[in-house]
Amino acid sequence: MSRRDRRDVVVVGGGVVGAACALALAAQDLDVVLIEARTPARWSADAPDLRVYAFAHDSAGLLGAFGAWDDVRATRAHAYRRMQVWDAGGGSELAFDADALGMRELGWIVEHGLLVDRLWTRLAAAGVDVRAPARVEALEHDADSVSLRLDAGGRVEARLAIAADGAASTLRTLAGIGTQSRDYAQAGVVGYVESALPHRDTAWQRFLATGPLALLPCDGGRSSIVWTLPVEEAARVRDLDDASFADALTRASGGRLGRLAPVSARAAFPLRRQLADTQLQGRVLVIGDAAHVVHPLAGQGVNLGLRDVIGLADSVADARSRGARWDAPQRLARWARTRRSENAVAAHAFETINRVYSTEALLPVLLRSHALGVAGALPPLRNLLWKRAAGL
Ligand SMILES: Cc1cc2nc3c(=O)[nH]c(=O)nc-3n(C[C@H](O)[C@H](O)[C@H](O)COP(=O)(O)OP(=O)(O)OC[C@H]3O[C@@H](n4cnc5c(N)ncnc54)[C@H](O)[C@@H]3O)c2cc1C
Repeated sequence: MSRRDRRDVVVVGGGVVGAACALALAAQDLDVVLIEARTPARWSADAPDLRVYAFAHDSAGLLGAFGAWDDVRATRAHAYRRMQVWDAGGGSELAFDADALGMRELGWIVEHGLLVDRLWTRLAAAGVDVRAPARVEALEHDADSVSLRLDAGGRVEARLAIAADGAASTLRTLAGIGTQSRDYAQAGVVGYVESALPHRDTAWQRFLATGPLALLPCDGGRSSIVWTLPVEEAARVRDLDDASFADALTRASGGRLGRLAPVSARAAFPLRRQLADTQLQGRVLVIGDAAHVVHPLAGQGVNLGLRDVIGLADSVADARSRGARWDAPQRLARWARTRRSENAVAAHAFETINRVYSTEALLPVLLRSHALGVAGALPPLRNLLWKRAAGL
């Protein structure tokens, strides 16, 4: 293929992270191709997506830069103003409050399907060349470029390839990048519920010996649940009839919002930690779940992926402002080191919290109740914890 046909960037995977990456780089006048295995279904207001995210301020800022955030927000994004964390074992509670932090809201609860939909509607106008449905089958790369062969036929050649194709990333494997994984033997049960008491725009999180239960406030007084349980227990709970599920969930929540009743289908997804050994191999970059899968207890999975994108877009902009090469190997290596280190710290921190709280052993119970109390009683520490999680 001649140099004239070489694109700047090929992004593989058009989930939230890959689609946002394609738009962020196209906004910097890079010539971007996006390859996605499945063309996403259109989002419908009548069929709420069971997969929701606690969307952070910096993630909203990224989408705002290419005009998608106002649309998402006006369509359906529920601002949450408080977060309340407590331990079923007793002790103090940790509370975050937007007013106390001088903010209008701590973040927003947003559906995965709505985000993907609003990102995809912008791809064509942004000049992104979309190939879907198409899968990557083979990779060749040298010092200056990558060449990807697609199952649909044909090749795409670019200066850089970005693997955003999720936890089982094909491109990461083709690039020879290994992963370290830990199976938590837990699954997250998700669904929507109504509560007898109002959710008060608060994200509630209760730590139980079986794993954390989160209740995330949504429109219409509903809450979205993410209930972490041992795998077999998660399957059993997911399949309970509605009345038995309501009983079990109300008990697990400690009755904080009164009786909880399911108002949607339920699903369960397996939980693990997985970290790619590196986020850069030659001219292949790895971002999002392809690089890091974390425990959903802090709702940070998609935010970490979007921080990979923010870091990359900032690096490209910085290179441009200096008249330097945006894809210089040292520049990419610096991005990869910073991101790998932040993602590894986050993944291990969430894992530690999950492990310390998922036990009834006396010492951890005493220590964790005390720790919540200490963190809650010291406003500077509480604010720092929040700002780290909220991307401020
Ligand atoms: C069932 C499920 C439920 C979840 N629920 C929650 C939740 O409630 N809260 C939470 O915080 N996190 C949740 N997560 C995690 C969260 O969805 C991820 O952190 C987030 O989606 C990562 O985004 P991503 O774009 O990196 O990857 P993905 O969303 O996995 O997107 C990867 C994309 O790549 C495409 N693709 C895959 N292989 C190829 C290929 N070979 N060629 C081309 N394209 C390819 C896929 O079709 C997909 O569109 C859930 C994950 C799953 C699987």
